[in-house]
Amino acid sequence: MSQENNCEFCDIIKSKKGKVIFEDEKSVAMLSPRPFCHGHIIVMPKQHFTIIEQVPDYLMAHLSKIVNKISIAVFEVFQATGTNILINNGINAGQKTNHFMVNILPRKENDGLDFQWNSKQFNEEQMSTIEIKLKEECSGIGDFEKENRKPINADKEIQKIDKEENYLVKQLNRIP
Ligand SMILES: [Zn+2]
Repeated sequence: MSQENNCEFCDIIKSKKGKVIFEDEKSVAMLSPRPFCHGHIIVMPKQHFTIIEQVPDYLMAHLSKIVNKISIAVFEVFQATGTNILINNGINAGQKTNHFMVNILPRKENDGLDFQWNSKQFNEEQMSTIEIKLKEECSGIGDFEKENRKPINADKEIQKIDKEENYLVKQLNRIP
């Protein structure tokens, strides 16, 4: 059985049982079935991915735009004064589902949700070592994956051109 067949959220997406607030060809946003607070929204790719590393760059870029727009809507609808935009990436990061998702949580002053953390101190050597390692690892960033055009669209384009050409040919034939 594929991961997709075992996925609660693929089921919700396909069965259209979720409280969907927005969807397009690639993504869907709905109220979380297990909300952390009132108005907790989850934004997911329609295709099954478990962790962020698996999500293609072009899809991640698309999802980021959707998340931003929904966050703006949350400010309006809930008169929120903030949003937390959160990805629990991996079991040790608190991921409870096997479908990749971005959480949007509306926030207000004194809403009782605790996302505060106390910063820790590291010495200069510890900081520089990790800085150098990360810089090296990140040096290759920039060659982003682009979406391939679907063959079906290409066919439609060709048909469109064919029609236009036929029209032109007909027009030409009318000329005596
Ligand atoms: Zn899934």
